[in-house]
Amino acid sequence: MRRNRNVKIVATLGPASNDYETILALFRAGADVFRLNMSHGSHDEIEARHALVRRIEEETGRPIAILADLQGPKLRLGSFASGAAELEEGDRFRLDLDPAPGDNHRVSLPHPEVFAALEPGASLLVDDGKLRLKVHRCGADFAECNVIVGGVVSDRKGVNVPDVVLPLKALSEKDRTDLEFACSLGVDWIALSFVQRAGDVEEARVLVAGRAAMLAKIEKPAALKEFDAILAAADGVMVARGDLGVEMPVQAVPPIQKRLVRRARAAGKPVIVATQMLESMIASPMPTRAEVSDVATAIYEGADAIMLSAESAAGSYPVEAVRTMHNVAISVESDPTWREIIVASRHIEHTSVADGIVAAAREIAETTDIKAICCFTESGSTPGKVARERPQVPIIALSPRIETLRRLCLTWGTHCVATGPIDRFKSAVVSAAQAAREFGFAEARDQIVVTAGVPFNVPGTTNILRVAPCDERLIYRAEAD
Ligand code: PGA
Ligand code: MN
Repeated sequence: MRRNRNVKIVATLGPASNDYETILALFRAGADVFRLNMSHGSHDEIEARHALVRRIEEETGRPIAILADLQGPKLRLGSFASGAAELEEGDRFRLDLDPAPGDNHRVSLPHPEVFAALEPGASLLVDDGKLRLKVHRCGADFAECNVIVGGVVSDRKGVNVPDVVLPLKALSEKDRTDLEFACSLGVDWIALSFVQRAGDVEEARVLVAGRAAMLAKIEKPAALKEFDAILAAADGVMVARGDLGVEMPVQAVPPIQKRLVRRARAAGKPVIVATQMLESMIASPMPTRAEVSDVATAIYEGADAIMLSAESAAGSYPVEAVRTMHNVAISVESDPTWREIIVASRHIEHTSVADGIVAAAREIAETTDIKAICCFTESGSTPGKVARERPQVPIIALSPRIETLRRLCLTWGTHCVATGPIDRFKSAVVSAAQAAREFGFAEARDQIVVTAGVPFNVPGTTNILRVAPCDERLIYRAEAD
């Protein structure tokens, strides 16, 4: 089984995709990575979803990545005496630390650190920005606000405070428990929400201790200011447009998306474009034209992956949503203009032997009739470098390490294949040729490019490039040892 597209699809699991049949259907329709959202669902539910994905991986023999997304320091209101309250434009509304149930005059905001950082004039956005408050007067345990945009507010709705850098800890107590739980399950990626600085990623990385790769979600203005340092500290990033579009004016999001995708591509780290990609498909089997265009835009930008949230986790058409993304990808990637844009937006500094080898691999593959670039990898770094080149031919990553292959499921254009232990270059070439034929990338008469590092089993040593036939008899004849 292979995908005939380069961009990867991330599907969030939830109540609408809780059972074996649905998750298998999502995988068959094109999901390469499954996201477990730690903001919703009990540990038992999350553990069950994790186990189903691993069962499907086992049965299909294809590596699948699992990404656990930590809730992060999301601010929430307390509750209301009647469950909700209606605020009208021009009203005064008070936020405080009193846990008593709220009404249409006040409610609790159980975050003293927010009151410590607020200043008169600051905006508070409630429920994904549906309501807007402006601070009139504030102190250590209260803020008196004017209602700028009113509406109905209900129990424990989220609050964003875009104007102030909050001295929030990167990881709440819940996040620490969830992180340890997700790592103990054996997830491949840990995503951190509301990252504000590189230190947030570093702090979490210590706790993860090599058990998973680290993805920084970019959804705060502070993270944009520090983006280069955050990108350097993380293994991948997400353009988390949901919260980003609340923390920033919505019209600022498209240019930010373009910039972040380019920088992540230049750094050779996977970048996910996320949120509301096919929002209407939560309730409808057909996407809007604008949504199809949005998905296409991310693919034209060269993002590694596009993501479904509620569409696959809680919507009525999870499988159709994955199929829609897949179909849009096939259409865009067969457009000659897509290729032109991908090439024109490729900005890579080559600074190492491995960089030079993968650049050469792409040049050779694109100048002659080569069917795939096959790379042997321990850590996953060489396939990452090949993917950064955004070559015109498929990338086959071969590794004896399943953890490496799973992480690479998020990487653009990379088809992951498990091998047995390899200690000689000849057997490496033979297994690359076998994989290329088995998955339909090449036939016996075709040629592939193989990269590897000798000695084998040492990460970061890529130093060989070989143009090889796919016919085993020819490989044995050509190789001396
Ligand atoms: P969330 O992150 O779905 O966890 O909020 C994505 C986003 O904010 O876009
Ligand atoms: Mn978010």
